[in-house]
Amino acid sequence: MSDAPVGDSLQRARQRLTKALESAGRPPDDARLLAVSKTKPAALIRQAYAWGQREFGENYLQEALDKQTELSDLRDIVWHFIGPLQSNKTRAVAEHFAWVHSVDRAKVARRLAEQRPASLGPLNICLQVNVSAESSKAGVAPEALDALADEVAALSNLRLRGLMAIPALAIGLETQREPLARLRQLQEGLKRRLPQAPLDTLSMGMSDDLEAAVLEGATLVRLGTAIFGARGPHR
Ligand SMILES: *Cc1c(COP(=O)(O)O)cnc(C)c1O
Repeated sequence: MSDAPVGDSLQRARQRLTKALESAGRPPDDARLLAVSKTKPAALIRQAYAWGQREFGENYLQEALDKQTELSDLRDIVWHFIGPLQSNKTRAVAEHFAWVHSVDRAKVARRLAEQRPASLGPLNICLQVNVSAESSKAGVAPEALDALADEVAALSNLRLRGLMAIPALAIGLETQREPLARLRQLQEGLKRRLPQAPLDTLSMGMSDDLEAAVLEGATLVRLGTAIFGARGPHR
């Protein structure tokens, strides 16, 4: 693949985000793009980087670590871990990522806090919330969020930045907005509850629901397909 496809789709994604922010009556730099590069080769990440993208999201630990090694010359790249996180994988995540979006239980948070090397500064945390109440989906139940947030906010080496959700697939802007609005309301509740916490991030919006997410206040939209094209199976 040549350079043009990633650069073109990245430009289109940026325009789409700018337009969505404008339609929502928000400032043009009020949300940023996280390029979700899972299953995609390091060469494509390098292309997106050359086009100015700095923040990348990965779901699978070993795959991410391999790509980080290949791209270690890109000093100011910012890696976000956005996939399901088992407690036996926390050490590598704490050592090799700047952000984790998928914290949904206290045990994982405590391990990340313990294992974060002090030299790297605090690890940025978003709590994943199961806003669609699907029993199979990851994420803390909304009823259990306050307790988890209290515990995470009290841990050193972590910075509680906000909430993340992957709502159930929905068609149509209004249907898409419902769970995203719930996440925003939960975040507002947390801000009142924990005024000292740096709760500035709503990680929501993917290739299919970016516009709905921006209308509901997303500050970090996670785009995979829209930037890198359709994905094959996870290797
Ligand atoms: C894969 C993934 C995305 C990107 O999804 P697209 O629909 O390809 O934009 C975003 N967030 C998470 C947590 C993902 O796993």
